[in-house]
Amino acid sequence: MLPNFIGGERVQSPTSRTLPVLEPNTGELIAEVPLSGASELDAAVDAASKAQVEWAKMPTKDRVQILYQMKTLVEAEKDHLAEVVTKENGKTHAESLGSVMRAVECLEFAVSLPQIATGEIMEVSQGVECRTVRVPVGVTAAITPFNFPFMVPLWMIPMSLGLGNAVILKPSEQTPLSALEIARLLEESGLPAGLFSVVNGDREIVEAMCDHPGISAIGFVGSTRVARIVYERSTATGKRVRALGGAKNHLVVVPDADPEMTATNVVASVAGCAGQRCMAASVLLAVGDCDHILDLIKQKMEAIVVGRDMGAIISEAAHNRISGYLERAEEGGAVLTLDGRKASLEHAPAGGHYMGASIIDHASPDHEASCEEIFGPTLTVIRCKTLDEALEIENANPYGNAAAVYTSSGGTAQYFSDRASAGMIGVNIGVPVPREPFAFGGWNDSAFGGGDITGPTAIDFWTKTKKITTKWSDGHRSNWMS
Ligand code: NAD
Repeated sequence: MLPNFIGGERVQSPTSRTLPVLEPNTGELIAEVPLSGASELDAAVDAASKAQVEWAKMPTKDRVQILYQMKTLVEAEKDHLAEVVTKENGKTHAESLGSVMRAVECLEFAVSLPQIATGEIMEVSQGVECRTVRVPVGVTAAITPFNFPFMVPLWMIPMSLGLGNAVILKPSEQTPLSALEIARLLEESGLPAGLFSVVNGDREIVEAMCDHPGISAIGFVGSTRVARIVYERSTATGKRVRALGGAKNHLVVVPDADPEMTATNVVASVAGCAGQRCMAASVLLAVGDCDHILDLIKQKMEAIVVGRDMGAIISEAAHNRISGYLERAEEGGAVLTLDGRKASLEHAPAGGHYMGASIIDHASPDHEASCEEIFGPTLTVIRCKTLDEALEIENANPYGNAAAVYTSSGGTAQYFSDRASAGMIGVNIGVPVPREPFAFGGWNDSAFGGGDITGPTAIDFWTKTKKITTKWSDGHRSNWMS
């Protein structure tokens, strides 16, 4: 059974509740993950709150030296770390490596905290000075999904630690291996014991985190259903919460789009990580006559070699869920023009959960494939007469993670960017992930709690400000603040 990592030690959970961790590429058992209980969370919070007292007193410049060391280690071990991600998650090696290098960028941003997370000072009245100081919030928690088991935890951990907090990570029970690699890397980088813990588990431990009085802030990334639960339950106990949820990303294609570039880019967005990205293309809104581009998209999707160009679906249950959408695809007049269930699996290992990319064309805006997050390599195409009609459909969807437009017209790009209801907009880019120092975060039902999970607003989330007003009396100078 995998250990938890608490107080700098790898400790076996006393629980009898465990889950098998299965390799998505082969279906083989690779580990048993403990479903920890509240007493283990208590131990992690206890160790964290003790260690955080001295950590908070250290200058940011000293704290980030550990993150600098971690960045160096991650770079040196990037291939090994990518292999771990591939083993537990099923991504191709190139995709896993890309996610590890994105994590390096997050570490790099946190290393710059001494330059960017400064306070302010000003003489607000004669002889009276106001100063703001950033103070850590204390013990924090990060709860993460299966789809980026190394990168998503590192959206939060370096920022929270660098700003003087302790962090307890609850990784997805489907992909718990990378979390223990993060623990090892932080340990080898010199992070004092107790400041970082891994507590494995499922719903029970997440609820215990939401309720725990010793935890001040929670960063959550996962589905909208759970993001809402975590947000509501944690704020009810006075915590600050930033909870990122699911998505239904719309890509708008207009006839003047560059066909080759658009098709290549749309396919990368749909099929990358087998569609298991919160930024994946999900609905294509084809404005006017775009058949020449749609034909190219289909050709490129058919050319994907499953098992080589596209990795596995996380689990049998997820594979069944996606297949269910394909089974019901033709309801309401839609046409399944490409069925990923029929793709050749000759290059995919036996036992894995594989499928090719699919296209559900001529879907109505209220078709389930147009509205629900499928989280697989499936593109739903809705035909629209005008850009405004496309925008109306995009605006009406409850999510707001990403939206993109493909066009060669600057005016169309601007018109779309100004009106799309999403936190991250792409122009000729189907996965518009803002890179540091820009921030990652959606709107609407894709994010609860305001602000972004990375970038500058994350500094505000992981700190409180103390406002200090000072006057040294010199006897004869006085004003209304005296
Ligand atoms: P999930 O919501 O099922 O799980 C996320 C975390 O919540 C896990 O650690 C899990 O153990 C826990 N959890 C699950 N059910 C729970 C419950 N009932 N109560 C309390 N905790 C619970 O998400 P997932 O399937 O692991 O990941 C895929 C989802 O994450 C997709 O919806 C995807 O869009 C989303 N995601 C969003 C972003 C983003 O930045 N917005 C990034 C990555 C993934």
